[in-house]
Amino acid sequence: MPGLIDLHTHSSVSDGTETPTELVRAAVAAGLATVAITDHDSTAGWQEAFAAASGTGLTVIPGMELSTNYGPASVHMLAYLFDPTDKTVIAETARIRDGRMHRAERIVERIAVDYDITWADVLAQSVDGGTLGRPHIADALVAKGLVSDRSAAFESILHWRSGYYEKYYAPSPLEGVRMIVAAGGVPVLAHPATHGRYRVIEERAIAELVAAGLVGLEIHHRDNTEDGKVRLYELATKYDLVVTGSSDYHGEGKPNRLAENTTEPEALERIVAAGSGSAPYRG
Ligand code: AMP
Ligand code: FE
Ligand code: FE
Ligand code: ZN
Repeated sequence: MPGLIDLHTHSSVSDGTETPTELVRAAVAAGLATVAITDHDSTAGWQEAFAAASGTGLTVIPGMELSTNYGPASVHMLAYLFDPTDKTVIAETARIRDGRMHRAERIVERIAVDYDITWADVLAQSVDGGTLGRPHIADALVAKGLVSDRSAAFESILHWRSGYYEKYYAPSPLEGVRMIVAAGGVPVLAHPATHGRYRVIEERAIAELVAAGLVGLEIHHRDNTEDGKVRLYELATKYDLVVTGSSDYHGEGKPNRLAENTTEPEALERIVAAGSGSAPYRG
């Protein structure tokens, strides 16, 4: 019995609320056999997660959730088992994190016109060198008593239509797939069928990504619509893509619970077979 597999989680290295060590402990407590650590645009949590998994029997798949921009939409791409020392990956993720930092600062400047919040309040909510995002601004708003929790912040002040929103630099999905594949990694489109702003990207674009080395689609995810999942299944069958499912756990930062969606062992086997830049850590 291979056990439960959850391939999308965040630690405090990005916008999760638990350290990589706490995340690994939570994964063990949730009864997972395999967890992937997939912080936004960063591999900084990998070593700590491996160390924490040592002796627990948990397998950790090293991963990342790469930010990409597709026209006006932000498209997230899960990347597994790539080489974290690859020069392009290091340079590009540093550029994205730097862009995120300046973008968050601009968002905070705008919010500060109307609310009592400072850049220092936001920095106090993030880890040094971590990937900064709107969730950290949300935490600062919560700490100031301006909103009740992250979700309330996203529905109001941090909503992209609020007037405070800004985008940030990210490569295109095609550039992202090429970069991950060149680093020996395995690209899987994250939650490709969420509501509203982030619609399913059209088949033509998916076909282009597949030709460049896209391996899978994250279909079992709470933010994918039911109609979207049906369409994604058709695409997965047509292009022989791996189907994954995962929680997108952020600790207390989101309601998503570990193992609420999981990936089949055969799907994980295909991902592991396709990855050559780094190896699963069998703790
Ligand atoms: P950003 O990358 O800075 O644009 O912020 C988007 C991130 O915020 C995503 O990675 C989500 O994990 C997180 N997020 C989006 N909506 C919510 C929400 N309603 N509650 C908590 N976190 C959210
Ligand atoms: Fe996130
Ligand atoms: Fe995402
Ligand atoms: Zn995520």
